[in-house]
Formats: sequence, C-alpha cells, structure tokens
Amino acid sequence: MDFDVIVVGGGPVGALLAAELRLGGARAVVLERLTEPSGHSKAFRLQPRTLELFDQRGILERFLEGNRIWPRAHFAGIEPLLELDRLDAAHPHALLIPQARTEELLEKHALDLGAEIRRGHELTGLAAGGDEVVARVRSAAGEYELRAAYLVGCDGGRSTVRRLAGIGFTGTDPSVSALLGDVELPEPGQLPAGVPGTMRTPRGLLMAISVLPGVTRVLTTEFDRPLPDRDTPVTLDELRTTVERVTGLQVTMREPRWLSRFTDATRLADEYRTGRVLLAGDAAHVHFPIGAQGLNLGLQDAMNLGWKLAATVAGWAPDGLLDSYGAERRPAAVRVLRETRAQVALMNPEPRVDALRDLVGDLLALPEVNLWLSRELSGLDVRYESMAGDAGHPLVGRPCPALTADAGAGPVPAATLLRNGRGLLLLPPDATDPATAGWADRVDVLPDVRLDAGDRSDVPAALLLRPDGHVAWAGATGPDGAAALGAALHRWFGAPHELTSTVDHAQNRGTS
Ligand SMILES: Cc1cc2nc3c(=O)[nH]c(=O)nc-3n(C[C@H](O)[C@H](O)[C@H](O)COP(=O)(O)OP(=O)(O)OC[C@H]3O[C@@H](n4cnc5c(N)ncnc54)[C@H](O)[C@@H]3O)c2cc1C
Repeated sequence: MDFDVIVVGGGPVGALLAAELRLGGARAVVLERLTEPSGHSKAFRLQPRTLELFDQRGILERFLEGNRIWPRAHFAGIEPLLELDRLDAAHPHALLIPQARTEELLEKHALDLGAEIRRGHELTGLAAGGDEVVARVRSAAGEYELRAAYLVGCDGGRSTVRRLAGIGFTGTDPSVSALLGDVELPEPGQLPAGVPGTMRTPRGLLMAISVLPGVTRVLTTEFDRPLPDRDTPVTLDELRTTVERVTGLQVTMREPRWLSRFTDATRLADEYRTGRVLLAGDAAHVHFPIGAQGLNLGLQDAMNLGWKLAATVAGWAPDGLLDSYGAERRPAAVRVLRETRAQVALMNPEPRVDALRDLVGDLLALPEVNLWLSRELSGLDVRYESMAGDAGHPLVGRPCPALTADAGAGPVPAATLLRNGRGLLLLPPDATDPATAGWADRVDVLPDVRLDAGDRSDVPAALLLRPDGHVAWAGATGPDGAAALGAALHRWFGAPHELTSTVDHAQNRGTS
C-alpha cells in the first residue's frame, strides 16, 4: 500500500478529512485536479456547529481573524430573521468568511498535520478489491497507479468517485435557474439593502449581499425560464439582463470577480460507503445553495468520518464503526435537503405563495419557532439516533453542549479538550475508578473535573465524548453508570488492550 487512505478532491471537505485522518494516525494523500486554488468563493458563511468543530481542534482563532461574525440568519429571505444569538451554544453566531480563505486555512491545517496534497493530480479510474483500492491518476508527469486500504470521494457534486463506484445519486431534477455575480455596484442604492437585500417580484427573486469590501454578490433565481446548459459561461451582460428581467431595474455593475450559474437539483447518494470506497461532502449530497448549508454539512461529514476511518486502518475500530458514518450522516443530509427544498418553494414568485410566506413570517416571530429553526440551520440540532438508543441520558448522541470543565486550573470549554482528536472521559472528583486503562491509547481520562453549564439542568457528573465531540455516554459513575460507561467505551473505542492481548494469545496458541 502507498497510503492508508486516498482522499479524492482537495476542496474544504477533502482537506479537513485529510487533517482528521492524520490526527488519527492514518497515512493520507489528497489528489486535487486543480494545479492552483480557483480563488473563487462559493460559500461565505460558516455555521455555529462548524465553529465548534474548529474550536475543538484549536484552529478557530485563525478563521476568526479579520472576519466578521453575524448573529442572524435568514430563512427563504423572509422577515423576521433568525436570532442565532439566542442559541445555547459556545458560538451563537455565523462567521462570514470567503470559502477561498476557509480552503486555504484547511489545506494548511492538513499539511501541518503531515497530509500529502498532490495538486494537478486527477483521479480517472478506480478498482476496489478485497483488501485494497487501486486509483488511476493523471498528472502532468503522466499516468500512474496508487494503492491504499480506503478511498474517499470528496470530489464535489459531479463526483467521479461516486460514478466509478456505481453509487446512485437519487433526487429531484433542476426546476429553477439561478445566476451569481460578485460585482462592484458603483451606484449604491440601486438594489435593496439588507442582509441579504431581497426583492421578490412576479418574475423571480433577487438577493444582494455585501460579501467583501466594495464587492456585492448579486443572485437571481427564476422559476419559469428554460434551463440553460450549466456549463455555458455567464457574462456580465447576461447578469444585467436577468436582473432587469426579474426586478425591472437597470443596475450598473462592473468588475465582475466571479460569475456562475446553478440550479436547485437536489440529490443524495444512495449509500455513503460501498466496500472500501466512501463519499463525503457535495459528492454525497447537493441542493440549492440557500441558508449556507452545503459546506457546513460536508465539514461535519469529514469530522464524523475521519476518526472512524483512522481507527479502522489502525485496527482498533469496533464492528460497525465505519458503517455508523453513513448511518449518522445520511439522515443529517436528509434534513438539510428538506430545509433547502422548503426554502426554494417559499421563494417561488407565484402570488399564491404570498400567503404561505406571510404565514411563515408570523411563525418566525414566535420565539420558539425562531429558536427551533435557528438550531436546525446552525447544525446544532443533530442527534445521532443509533447512539441515543444506547443510554438514557438526553445528551447522548448530541454535540457536547456549551459547558465548562474545571480540573482545578479554572474552567475551560469542555469541547476544547478534544484538540488531539482522541476520545475524552471527564470524571468528577468523587468518582470510583471506572477501569479505563485498557483504552488509554484511544481515550484521554481527566479525573477530578467539575462540569458546569450555568442554569442548565441536564449537566451530568461525568461525560464520555467521541473524537468528533458527540456525547457517547453521560451520567454518574456508580455501579450502574460504570456498566453503561464500559458498554459505551466498547461500542465506540473497541476492545480494551487487556482483552485484545487475551484474544491475540488465544489466536497465537491456535495457530502454533
Ligand atoms: C453560490 C453558492 C453559494 C454557497 N454558499 C454556501 C454557504 O454560505 N455556506 C455553505 O455551507 N455552503 C455554501 N455553498 C455550498 C458549498 O460551496 C459546497 O457545499 C462546498 O464547496 C462543498 O465542498 P466539497 O469539498 O465537498 O466539494 P468542492 O468544493 O466541490 O471540492 C471538490 C474538489 O474536488 C476536485 N475534484 C473533482 N474531481 C476530481 C478528480 N477526479 N480528481 C481530483 N480532484 C477532483 C475539485 O477540483 C474540487 O477542488 C454554496 C454553493 C454555491 C454554489
């Protein structure tokens, strides 16, 4: 084998996955067909859950530097806005950051951790056999083969990996035609202001968002136009004409930084894994880019998959660990697809949708509804049901809540103790020894810790976190708790060392 894992696609998801694989000790290579980053930014917003994940790994500060946070979000451009600052979260706001910068920082993070990134190397074929995957790669120096135990397609919505692996991509065809232009508007006031400034007319929808100093992203969505070929380049003239058709306004635009077109094609991979080939990010799910979801969903895929795949190649993964990736992340994508489809339906300019928008506006004014949707769109409201089935505590399966851990040196956010990408067991001062020594190479144990979350009522005495920050077990360490904790350790971190060596001895005796 040349590597443990080949990651195809060096976009944001591929880069974060490579970093997570390295953190788990796997030898990872990233194949990226572009020789240089494109410099364009599709996404401009990172959600609260993604900020938590970066904080867990100690890299959040570099993303915050020079970028703005925003405590609001919108749903289909309807007022009132979502109030993210009411979330009970470590970072109750979005971060406005160009995707190009996010990609640059994640690539550096992966390189710092020792991942190899091969730019100008394109995957053209793959063969997955019993114990390896062979990738066919094209580069300027010629074609070559690369062998690894696993291969992950992070190669975007038109994924070559997905096609070569024969994984179906089921969903709905495009029905709307959207244009995007990052442009200068020399005559301010021609387009509606707001975050985003939204205009819905009988002919379509326009959104204008200030994305960089002096640069506005102008987005048009039309519901009744013939769908153009997605690969036909957009011109500034086409954007101008479309803005005029939708709004009736003649808007002066110049110096386009980036022009593109997209649709509401919405699809989900039938499976996230087939044998030794897996999918993550846009390769596994595509939808209309509304509500700042796709990149965040993909980064959360990478965080879920990285430690599981690293554990698998390291040999300590318990049965079913790798398959829990798809079991957990596919339902998360189903929810995002539902939200984005709902928003597209609400953006439709048909007058009969007006009543529905009015009604949704009234609902958004209700604090509980506003909070529920904020949780949903921020990525915080994920509960992995297969985990929740294990134990009674309501936190199990959820991301670690915003609580502090004090081991004597003062309180720190509990999730930030996950920097090294291992499991983490936080035990209270009076805990009896729960016999965790067998997992010492996979799980860090911090004794004498007091957990605190202000007036939250569901704070447990002890907490077991997976490397991705989800709660694997929560409770007290009495006899019942110790049994449940032991079960959770086996379930997520495999057999403890003592048992492994007993099995090894038995196997050795059997074969000698
Ligand atoms: C207009 C717009 C606005 C958006 N805004 C937001 C937002 O605010 N927030 C948000 O969360 N999401 C947003 N998204 C979605 C977000 O941009 C994507 O979800 C994100 O880029 C997905 O990342 P990825 O790494 O999975 O795929 P990609 O970014 O598509 O990266 C895939 C990489 O794989 C490479 N590749 C492809 N094929 C091969 C091959 N055969 N061999 C080697 N390399 C290959 C490509 O060159 C590329 O670098 C937006 C999307 C659009 C279109």
